[in-house]
Amino acid sequence: MKYPLHLQKLIETLKCLPGVGSKSAERFAFELLDWRHDQLHEFSNLIKHIPEELPACQECGCLVDNRNCLFCNASRQQTGLMCVIASAKDAYAIESTREYKGLYHVLGTLLSPLEGKGPDQLTIGRLQERIQNLSIQELIIALDSTLEGDATALYIKKVVDNSSIKVSRLAFGIPMGSSFDYVDGGTLARALSGRGNF
Ligand SMILES: [Zn+2]
Repeated sequence: MKYPLHLQKLIETLKCLPGVGSKSAERFAFELLDWRHDQLHEFSNLIKHIPEELPACQECGCLVDNRNCLFCNASRQQTGLMCVIASAKDAYAIESTREYKGLYHVLGTLLSPLEGKGPDQLTIGRLQERIQNLSIQELIIALDSTLEGDATALYIKKVVDNSSIKVSRLAFGIPMGSSFDYVDGGTLARALSGRGNF
């Protein structure tokens, strides 16, 4: 017996979330059937307003809170440091270490030829502009320790190589092949304080 069409669609959508397989998606969908109307309304409103309520900062690409970017300010600019990250989410992981007080630059994705993600999908042009305009002295590459992360880090190093800034990359602490999602704050703090030349 097939599930009703709307329920099938709900399950298929839930399966798009990371780590959610068929069984979990079914469990979540049936759980939602038990929610009250007002809870479902609130939930759907939160999802519906993501584009207006959570835009990316035009400057750094981090998430804006109430039209204000908490990651772009004069004191961060004075450090001369810029941390290159793949996603806006990574800034929160680095902030939680309390080791870093500089600026961020969100690439948007990592290079991945297999998924058709090439250099033109990264915000490299803006990164080069910002390095110039903000007098950045050190660029810290904080990307996943994966094939895609390594390829992207090498590409960025090549692009900024002729400018006189120091380029470093998070070194030890991050297990090989792991994604930021699975790294705890202590490990990340050690990786950040022990970063080496790249
Ligand atoms: Zn910003």
